Amino acid sequence: DEVLLSVTMLRPEEKLLLGALRAEGLAARPLLMEDVAAVVAGQDGPPALAVIRNLSHRDAVNVSRRLEYAGVTTLNRSSVIEACNDKGLQSLLFARHGIPHPVTRHAFSYDQVRSAVSELGMPAVVKPVSGSWGRGVTKMANAECVEAWAGGRESADATGKLFPVVVQSYIDKPGHDLRVVVIGRTPVVAIQRVSDDWRTNTHLGAEVRRVEVTAEIDKLCGQVVDALGPGFYGVDLVEDRSTGELLVLEVNANPEFAKSSERHGVDVAGLYATYVAEQVSV
Ligand code: ADP
Ligand code: ZN
Ligand code: MG
Repeated sequence: DEVLLSVTMLRPEEKLLLGALRAEGLAARPLLMEDVAAVVAGQDGPPALAVIRNLSHRDAVNVSRRLEYAGVTTLNRSSVIEACNDKGLQSLLFARHGIPHPVTRHAFSYDQVRSAVSELGMPAVVKPVSGSWGRGVTKMANAECVEAWAGGRESADATGKLFPVVVQSYIDKPGHDLRVVVIGRTPVVAIQRVSDDWRTNTHLGAEVRRVEVTAEIDKLCGQVVDALGPGFYGVDLVEDRSTGELLVLEVNANPEFAKSSERHGVDVAGLYATYVAEQVSV
């Protein structure tokens, strides 16, 4: 069975995946954007499945949609990639499915940001709906921050290209958040990301520490899978110190795992390859 691995480049994650897929006995090969034309033209017969690991969300959606329209199953599905690329859509999905998450408002203008921040109270968090590695995620500690943020952009951004953004209540967390890797329906590993920075992305230097997948983590991930369907996810959870409750912050459809796998010793690539092999054989 041929399995395609759609990539921009082979990061450590994709090298691990390629090896693991081949170890499952699958004929896996990298698929670059320029190779998509030949696949959807059906030149070599349809592949069994395509794993989507493109760096940019835009490329990931463009490739996965074309493959799906050509009848190829993709992991993740394009609709899932689209939802994971938009923190605004995610918050609506969480709300609809009763998944605990920070209170979120949608803003399409600077004035809507101002009023959402004053409605939710400060500190509040403003984030672009798309993006990762903590880029653009901003804490509004007080009204001066809001004016510095908005005033600086408002004049330059006449076309409002920045919008929509989401405005969230700031969750006072205990110095770390959680990243859970989900394969299919199963949370396979949970790590704490510990940081002095309030943004706990590993790209910003957070330390990782493996923790047990508790019943609460398992339940939240189950709700996420019920909402999005089975797939390969990095689910970010944050504990509200005032209530002790875990909230779902976001779901990533293209999580990095190589560095933390090495640290916590869970073979994420191998487990994912096994899941892919199961999907191919059904
Ligand atoms: P990204 O896609 O860039 O990772 P996130 O929404 O996950 O965006 O935010 C990055 C980090 O910022 C999170 O891992 C978390 O540590 C912190 N953070 C984001 N939103 C909130 C919030 N509402 N309250 C407290 N911390 C937050
Ligand atoms: Zn993200
Ligand atoms: Mg995140």
